Amino acid sequence: MSASVQLDKLIRALQIQPGVGRRSATRIAYHLLDRRRQDAHDLGQILINAMANIKLCSSCRNYCDHERCSICANSERHAEGRICVVESASDVEAIEQSNNYFGLYFVLHGHLSPIDGIGAQELGLPLLDHILANGNFKELILATNPTVEGDATASFIASMAQKHNIPAITKIAAGVPLGGDLESVDQKTLASSLLNRRPLA
Ligand code: ZN
Repeated sequence: MSASVQLDKLIRALQIQPGVGRRSATRIAYHLLDRRRQDAHDLGQILINAMANIKLCSSCRNYCDHERCSICANSERHAEGRICVVESASDVEAIEQSNNYFGLYFVLHGHLSPIDGIGAQELGLPLLDHILANGNFKELILATNPTVEGDATASFIASMAQKHNIPAITKIAAGVPLGGDLESVDQKTLASSLLNRRPLA
């Protein structure tokens, strides 16, 4: 307990970030107060603007500033004829960094989890179905996390996509640690798991 209620509040608020416990939050709070007041003030404003204005791309559900993200607005990406389904927007960033994939994406923002009330609707699967029906794809790549839930989600999407006659439905391969998250995989491993994807259906 510090001498300031406001400071306690700040320390608690900083702990919403993953990996930041009370000790780290306290250190950050003192650092901001001691040396970075103006920057922290700017950060507060940036947070407010970002949370109010960043939206989901109407095609791929990645985060973007406008109706459509820059990837979906790029005709070369469409011409590639590939669409890669990922669980989270940070996975798009990780795959982009691996510099091995030049097609489109679709972001689920989670995986199927009936117990939490997360079904096809919540993951945007009707939209994905519509995109697959209207696009000219030669490959659907399922790059969900290598967890039980991620695999179940990939299988569900693969069977949903069957009716669209996409020549290849693949899943990214070995190299991604079981039970891990794509975003925590190093770029080389992610690049090789993308290259070594296997047919799922
Ligand atoms: Zn998009």
